[in-house]
Amino acid sequence: MNAPAIAIVGAGPAGFYAADALVRRLPDCTLDLVERLPCPFGLVRGGVAPDHPGTKAVIRQFERTLSRPNVALFGNVEVGRDVLPAEFAQFYDATLYCTGALRDRRLEIPGEDLPGVFGSAQFVSWYNAIPCEPRPAPRLPGTAAVILGQGNVAADIARMLARAPEELAATDISAPAWEVLAAARLTDIFVIGRRSAAWASFSALELEELGAIERAEPRVEPCDLEQGIPQDMPQERRQAAERNLEILRGFAARAPQGRPVRLHFVFNARPAAILGSTHAEGIRLERTRMEGARAIATGSFFEIAAGTVVSAIGYRSVPIPGLAFDEARGTVHNEDGRVEAGVYAAGWCRRGPQGVIPANRADALAVAERIAADLGAQAQVAKPGRAALDALLRSRGIRWIDAARWRRIDAAEVARGASRKPREKFLSIEEMLRAAGAD
Ligand SMILES: Cc1cc2nc3c(=O)[nH]c(=O)nc-3n(C[C@H](O)[C@H](O)[C@H](O)COP(=O)(O)OP(=O)(O)OC[C@H]3O[C@@H](n4cnc5c(N)ncnc54)[C@H](O)[C@@H]3O)c2cc1C
Repeated sequence: MNAPAIAIVGAGPAGFYAADALVRRLPDCTLDLVERLPCPFGLVRGGVAPDHPGTKAVIRQFERTLSRPNVALFGNVEVGRDVLPAEFAQFYDATLYCTGALRDRRLEIPGEDLPGVFGSAQFVSWYNAIPCEPRPAPRLPGTAAVILGQGNVAADIARMLARAPEELAATDISAPAWEVLAAARLTDIFVIGRRSAAWASFSALELEELGAIERAEPRVEPCDLEQGIPQDMPQERRQAAERNLEILRGFAARAPQGRPVRLHFVFNARPAAILGSTHAEGIRLERTRMEGARAIATGSFFEIAAGTVVSAIGYRSVPIPGLAFDEARGTVHNEDGRVEAGVYAAGWCRRGPQGVIPANRADALAVAERIAADLGAQAQVAKPGRAALDALLRSRGIRWIDAARWRRIDAAEVARGASRKPREKFLSIEEMLRAAGAD
């Protein structure tokens, strides 16, 4: 086999783990990482909370992959808009989609489009300075905020709202978000789940951390906590549920300490409507009861006043025109990572928005093996790859960011941090392009 040309669309963890596996497995290949933003690293840069810098250390490993001589970055190129999947199929022997799951699942309740209501992807992009379409940024009016969902993303958002501004000042939080958080006067943060406490999907570490925030205290009603693990709970969840219940019992047993912020855990409550006419003023919730793993509505309602509502109830992939999409699952349509001949998928866009950063590695390794086997079965691979993509982007006047330009952006952000914080991120694509010298 002569040197195959491979494209990976999406430079997040799945894309980088797959790139690393492919260049090891096929040392003669050329590998192009195509990324919609000028900056790589997906949710490691744009999702992981600013107060968890250790989690972002994996970027150093991704940087090493980017430095390999046969790997190139094409940042600021959105597939489906700037280049079509059919063009990749024409240019590359194999194309692997690792485009993640960037769109919030909707609540589907009245009032969810009111100002003051945010999906978690939007909210997290705000504090992590990920450029998105223009929209009003959060203002956090009043003294209460509601977070819908009881997984790790909900925990991240609760922590970011509950922490003292001084604790966040030395992180890579975006400067405008820090200013809004510093000016906010939140005293009550409600973290609300549809199901009972045993079914909350926080990981134990994230839950414990919510009880260790200096200026906040957790509030849990003891009567909301099950005595034991529900009988219908699948075996693989039981240990984590036991641990979470133990932590929540510890929270419930704490005497009030008079700290400035209260973090209320509310279980068995389903959002029914956002209240307010011109801006969110609160939320109407319906009590639920558990029937097996299902939360059943009871017809009993209550309300919580709050100026900000963030829903952290899951994500869907964004469909790419010309690439098969599974509407029901909200993922790229695939069978074990194969979409069609020469086209593959890995990471969150393949299996849905579940699993931590390292979980994408196994996925990426498996798909890399599959690509290598499929390419090995071909007598010859002869597609033009990088030269053809390069020519097409030039003909369309698209300014892409290669690895050297990304390093200029990176260095400029670090310099803007001025030793006060690890970096001061640019807020817009235009600013990044200017810093890269690509405008
Ligand atoms: C808010 C949040 C916090 C998290 N915190 C943690 C944590 O602390 N620790 C942990 O281990 N895990 C965490 N995770 C999970 C982790 O981020 C994911 O497991 C991982 O990022 C998924 O990798 P991926 O490559 O599939 O997707 P992503 O990381 O989303 O990467 C997809 C990439 O594809 C690009 N892309 C999308 N569409 C296109 C297109 N059309 N053309 C070109 N490029 C495109 C995107 O810009 C992005 O760079 C968190 C997730 C979220 C949502």
